[in-house]
Amino acid sequence: LQKLLKGYALLNILTPEPKQISKAVTKDELLRAMVREELVLHYQPQLNIATGEVVGVEALVRWQHPERGLIFPDDFIPQAEVLGVIDELGWYVARLGLSEIRQFVNREGLQLKLSLNVSPQSLHDLQLPDIFVGLARQYGVAPENIVLEITESGLIQELASALDILTRLRMKRVHLSIDDFGTGYAMMQQLRRVPATELKIDRSFVHDMHQLNSARVVVRKTIEIGHELGMKIVAEGVETKEQLEFLRINGCDIAQGYYFSRPVPAIVLLDWMKNYAPLHF
Ligand code: C2E
Ligand code: MG
Ligand code: MG
Ligand code: MG
Repeated sequence: LQKLLKGYALLNILTPEPKQISKAVTKDELLRAMVREELVLHYQPQLNIATGEVVGVEALVRWQHPERGLIFPDDFIPQAEVLGVIDELGWYVARLGLSEIRQFVNREGLQLKLSLNVSPQSLHDLQLPDIFVGLARQYGVAPENIVLEITESGLIQELASALDILTRLRMKRVHLSIDDFGTGYAMMQQLRRVPATELKIDRSFVHDMHQLNSARVVVRKTIEIGHELGMKIVAEGVETKEQLEFLRINGCDIAQGYYFSRPVPAIVLLDWMKNYAPLHF
């Protein structure tokens, strides 16, 4: 698997995704955006592949800019990290997500899991687990209903300082997910130490499955290794029925992607959920 992932790294270098050139934002602009509550969350459903049931939602931040329109996270999260406002942004998103998640109660009255993306840079304060779980309780959300997603590449960069905090979060029953798995070129040996409960297969592999055997092998092996380590496997970027079928046959647990729904405001997703019938899955 490691060898395959290295091959993929090379492939990604040879065929880089076109980067959008965007105007750099300043620290003041970002802080003002939060004060003015211009940052909003869109939610994307996560479905249990075996039953078709919605089991969770991932919160994805967007900036509803008064002049520039909707700005996507890739255009301001890296700047927020560089400018040192990523902690503020993280807490803002956590509060907003926790306050909105209560609307997502499924038909059996079960609360759906809320997945939040966390910048690895924010994993520096040993008080964070206590403060975070305290905040969740204020909003009436149990820690076992929260999944914190950290990208594999970020995790490896910050492993030394993050490991303690992640372990404490896990001890408080918060779920941890390794996002964009397969793109960080992490050594299994290091990753094994992260008390993660979930692996998210990067969407580039899901995308390439239909044409590249190597992508299919990566997906299959990731599911196998993840399961053997006791983790749930989520496939992101599922766009077609064929992709879903391949994932189902190979025992992947959860699927997320445009095939079901794009990330949308809470109210839109609630409407989608009302009309969604797992029977036709
Ligand atoms: P991610 O966590 O890996 O999120 C998945 C990205 O794939 C999202 O992009 C989502 O809109 C997109 N996506 C979902 N389904 C499909 C599909 O079927 N096909 C394709 N092509 N794309 C799909 P988005 O929303 O632009 O977010 C980009 C990244 O920004 C996220 O990647 C995450 O790393 C980061 N991010 C988003 N929200 C936050 C946040 O609140 N805090 C932090 N620190 N990072 C965030
Ligand atoms: Mg994510
Ligand atoms: Mg991802
Ligand atoms: Mg990503």
